[in-house]
Amino acid sequence: IEESEKFRIEYWDLEEAKLARMPKPKPLATRIAVVTGAGSGIGKAIAHRLVAEGACVVVADRDAGAAEAVAAELGGADRAVAVTVDVTDEEQITAAFDAALLAFGGVDLVVNNAGISISKPLLETSAADWDVQHAIMARGSFLVSREAARVMIGQGLGGDIVYIASKNSVFAGPNNIAYSATKADQAHQVRLLAAELGEHGIRVNGINPDGVVRGSGIFAGGWGAQRAATYGIEEEKLGEFYAQRTILKREVLPEHVANAVFALVGGDLTHTTGLHIPVDAGVAAAFLR
Ligand code: NAD
Repeated sequence: IEESEKFRIEYWDLEEAKLARMPKPKPLATRIAVVTGAGSGIGKAIAHRLVAEGACVVVADRDAGAAEAVAAELGGADRAVAVTVDVTDEEQITAAFDAALLAFGGVDLVVNNAGISISKPLLETSAADWDVQHAIMARGSFLVSREAARVMIGQGLGGDIVYIASKNSVFAGPNNIAYSATKADQAHQVRLLAAELGEHGIRVNGINPDGVVRGSGIFAGGWGAQRAATYGIEEEKLGEFYAQRTILKREVLPEHVANAVFALVGGDLTHTTGLHIPVDAGVAAAFLR
């Protein structure tokens, strides 16, 4: 047997042994999740869906009252605990993961969802606007993912990290340079971490929603008014307006984003990592703004 052939056999034996040891994705009903920004909107819908599928959830939000309310809706301590965490604060992030370990014994699913939107044209965007937006969504999701990876690698059981990014991570949204830039940052975090964490059985994927008007605090908090002014329509017509500009003529609601999280972590997409799924009723596909 030639040297090269011997090497080939040894190499593949090793690779196969490695693959056999690689943790397989766990069923959703046995999962323990940390969902950031789960006190409102999309994060709240994701927490509801995960608990409905049998998972346990840490409802992590900087708004303590909102987090408590969602945890109570989810059935309380057996299935959900509320943790007050600002994702800009490393110690609070560690405390949130400690709370998950204490309450449920581990963490194998993390959803990076917490966010704000500073939507201003370039000339009105201050350095402070840029810094706050990036501290929460670019730096904050990096810190949460780093803690998630530390815990998941330590457990040796694999896991999933899901980013709630945005259509704006790929396409230019009007008048929101700071917000869109952080979403592009998150999209690259997905690819970078998918590449780095795959060998531990940790998958990293993203979801790109668009136009989730009803139920979103981001829209209620000023973005809606800004968008309505941009498009020259009344704010209460925004949901309908967004639906009509989609390919499917359907309004996207928080539960549709939660469905995509389920598809990624609760279904058969076991060999998918580094992907972004659009949940926008077709807006990005047709390059509609
Ligand atoms: P939302 O305002 O209803 O929810 C955001 C939650 O994040 C709130 O509960 C808020 O308290 C929390 N939060 C904000 N800053 C935080 C911080 N520093 N630490 C911890 N928690 C913090 O808004 P939403 O529309 O549900 O947005 C959720 C995510 O979805 C965001 O990342 C947003 O960018 C993304 N997104 C939303 C849309 C949409 O159309 N609504 C579209 C694309 C992407």
